[in-house]
Amino acid sequence: MTTTQRAYQDQQLPALTKIGGVWHCVIANKLFKVTKPGRTWTVARADDAADPQPVASGRTRKEALAAALTALSVSLALPEPTITHVGSRLNALGGGATITIDGLVSVFYRLEKGGYTQPCGKCGGKGHINGYDHVQGGICFDCAGYGALGAPMPLEHRIEDVKYLATDMRKQHERAIIDAAKGRAIWAKFSAAEPELAKWMDNDGSTFPDDMRRLITSGKSMTDRQDQAARRAAEQYAHRDERAAVEAAARAERIASARSLAEGDEVAHEGTVTLARTVDGAFGSRMLLLVDAGDGLTLKVFSTSKAAWEAEEGDRVRITGTAKKPQTDRYEGTPQTPVARPRIAIVATADELEAVAV
Ligand SMILES: [Zn+2]
Repeated sequence: MTTTQRAYQDQQLPALTKIGGVWHCVIANKLFKVTKPGRTWTVARADDAADPQPVASGRTRKEALAAALTALSVSLALPEPTITHVGSRLNALGGGATITIDGLVSVFYRLEKGGYTQPCGKCGGKGHINGYDHVQGGICFDCAGYGALGAPMPLEHRIEDVKYLATDMRKQHERAIIDAAKGRAIWAKFSAAEPELAKWMDNDGSTFPDDMRRLITSGKSMTDRQDQAARRAAEQYAHRDERAAVEAAARAERIASARSLAEGDEVAHEGTVTLARTVDGAFGSRMLLLVDAGDGLTLKVFSTSKAAWEAEEGDRVRITGTAKKPQTDRYEGTPQTPVARPRIAIVATADELEAVAV
């Protein structure tokens, strides 16, 4: 085997990269693990379960990779380019040829006197930008008014250009898959070592933690100052998170222990005003009172009576009337029982109650 043949053959196997100490490669846009669990090398899907079935194995890594390509029916050779000739009437950029490599890239080249040119993307191949006549006569700066980038070239040359572009794009795709996997591996390690920091970066949603997460997943470390600031912020976040959890639990408890009356039940309850608010409507203003009647029962009263206007939060009131169909509080999620034709009597004001307590 000559050196050229050997290099050619090497090129046709997927490139290997270590992620978290394990060899990985990309085959047909999927990530694979290349490991040696026993006497042979195996290739297995990396995103599968913890112990995936290998797709192929071999005595050496190269053998295993070659076997994997065969098993998956994948050829790493670029698909043959297809060339479509385009008449000048079919294309705003003029007549020429479109060179396509399936699934990777497709480029139109305009046919000119000396060969094929790539039309300038900035001016659409016209060499002139409409509406910019006041700037050097509207000449396109990208192509200096030629409408094309570079000199005209024979079609064979353009086919090579497109192959090069396709290879480059495929490498970029693979790079992106590998980088994402590296980021995930780094993040898993970081999360295990620094759970509080990781939780903050994962959930806070503001710029600083997002930036730090990106920095870490790209394989870099925080500076000392960033580290200090991050730890402070993560600690505050953890406290906030804890408080939110306590509040959520309390709310869930209130909902679970709340009760309401059935529609049509008689209301004759005493309770404490938890909310007293003026509500403006089509027929003028009225008072909205929420009354905690004990044992998780909240009565909701709309009234224009004198007592309703005088009632304040903390007052002890007696409500009579008829229960309406229960509703759910929009913010708290707790049930409320609206009262039809309510009568309100203030039993004791908040001030009086305070005086008694003292
Ligand atoms: Zn241009």
